[in-house]
Amino acid sequence: MAVLQANGVDFDFKVPVLVVGAGACGLVSALAAHDSGQSVMVLERDERPSGSTSLSAGLIPAACTRLQKAHGIEDSPELFVSDLVAKTHDHTPYDQAMVIARNAGPMIDWLMDQHQIVFELVTDFLYPGHSCLRMHGPKSRTGADLEQALLAAVERAGIDLISGASVEDLFVDATGRVTGVRCRRRDGAMELLGCNALVLACSGFAGNAEMVRHYIPEIADAECCGHLSNTGDAVNWGLAMGAALADMGAYQGHGSVAHPHALPLTWAVIAKGGILLNINGQRFSNEMRGYSEHGAEVAAQPDHVAWDIYNSEGHEAAMQFHDYREIKALGAVKTAASLAELAHLTGLPQAALQAECDAIAEAARSGSPDRFGRRFEGVPLLKAPYYAVKVNGALFHTQGGLMVDHNARVLRENGEPFPNLLAGGGAARGVSGDSSYGYLSGNGLLTATTYGRLAGIAAARIAFET
Ligand SMILES: Cc1cc2nc3c(=O)[nH]c(=O)nc-3n(C[C@H](O)[C@H](O)[C@H](O)COP(=O)(O)OP(=O)(O)OC[C@H]3O[C@@H](n4cnc5c(N)ncnc54)[C@H](O)[C@@H]3O)c2cc1C
Repeated sequence: MAVLQANGVDFDFKVPVLVVGAGACGLVSALAAHDSGQSVMVLERDERPSGSTSLSAGLIPAACTRLQKAHGIEDSPELFVSDLVAKTHDHTPYDQAMVIARNAGPMIDWLMDQHQIVFELVTDFLYPGHSCLRMHGPKSRTGADLEQALLAAVERAGIDLISGASVEDLFVDATGRVTGVRCRRRDGAMELLGCNALVLACSGFAGNAEMVRHYIPEIADAECCGHLSNTGDAVNWGLAMGAALADMGAYQGHGSVAHPHALPLTWAVIAKGGILLNINGQRFSNEMRGYSEHGAEVAAQPDHVAWDIYNSEGHEAAMQFHDYREIKALGAVKTAASLAELAHLTGLPQAALQAECDAIAEAARSGSPDRFGRRFEGVPLLKAPYYAVKVNGALFHTQGGLMVDHNARVLRENGEPFPNLLAGGGAARGVSGDSSYGYLSGNGLLTATTYGRLAGIAAARIAFET
């Protein structure tokens, strides 16, 4: 991965807009550049495009969409941005988060209206940290279906997508303008492709263990359940070009990945009154703080595992998720008619189980927060039948990266934009602050799709001007 001198390079082929990566960011970006009237080509390293996008639940938060209005949900960019900023404890810039909060809703409506992407509004539970129902996703709640729907839209639009094409190097002239890329094809052949504008949609560095240890040591020993082709190329090219980086310690962790099946167990089971116990049968946190910060928290427990214990309401809510149905089919969901049976099935000490259940019942009865600050009034009580899944903590994807402006243009260290370089999704700094706790549910796809659209529009404009 290098940045090479552009002087005298003879490209095999030239296209106005080139996009690196065919996850949600790259595909949305390509659609937006195409709708702005430009020819665009997407280069994807994998043989079959999937990205982190296919591993996700495919849920994108957005305010003031048609779907929200149809359900009578009152929302606004101001409310959305206050949720985003509050989750980071004020560690994400308000104006950047506002760009995302304002543009996400129109982006969802555009994908539905112009590209026949079918979204549903999730109405049966409120994700922690969101003030109202604003999660949009495919009916199946799988990112794989979102990815397939975007790939189909790209195909309908007649956009060229070349898979098995790993971009290795960028050609950059003395002014910082990217003139093209060198990419490796599946047979090892190298091709030189010229462009007028380049969109980096090749995500973050979750698949690069060395970079994870360097930038986010707290999660370096946890399992990586992200997309391993995301090796931090955008960050490394940016560093070589003198781009500004920000929030490199930000990431989406997950404290509830079925072990050893490596499938995420939806946090809906927690939102419906479920808890996390370590192997001593003890709670260790306020689970409602969010799933991301629990990645490192669970990894720090004895044997690096925990048990998700929940009730039938949690089970019913989770059954909507494809991953949960898979986890169940694999036999990872244990069901018990009593605490004694739960203790037997999980190996957790029954006395500790009883003590935690008693403490929760007392918190619910008194209406006071429990010893971790979690409130239980108004949520279904933990009661038989009990459900249990053994989980570990994991890294899903990174949220720090290239600093971009309001049009997704990559910025130099002095704050000036590069002439024709854009980025979004995992390649760019997100809106999650500089930590794990700043990740509000959906932030990953939110910035992938919203910056993706902004990057595609800006790339098309730059290509016209060139
Ligand atoms: C298990 C899991 C669950 C998640 N759940 C959610 C969720 O419910 N909601 C949410 O908002 N977010 C979720 N996320 C995060 C979300 O999936 C990502 O933030 C989002 O998909 C990022 O999109 P992207 O297009 O930037 O990257 P990706 O979808 O990862 O796409 C990047 C693509 O670039 C390709 N690439 C990389 N380097 C190169 C190169 N040099 N040349 C060519 N191609 C390259 C990769 O192969 C990949 O296909 C989840 C993530 C995981 C792992």
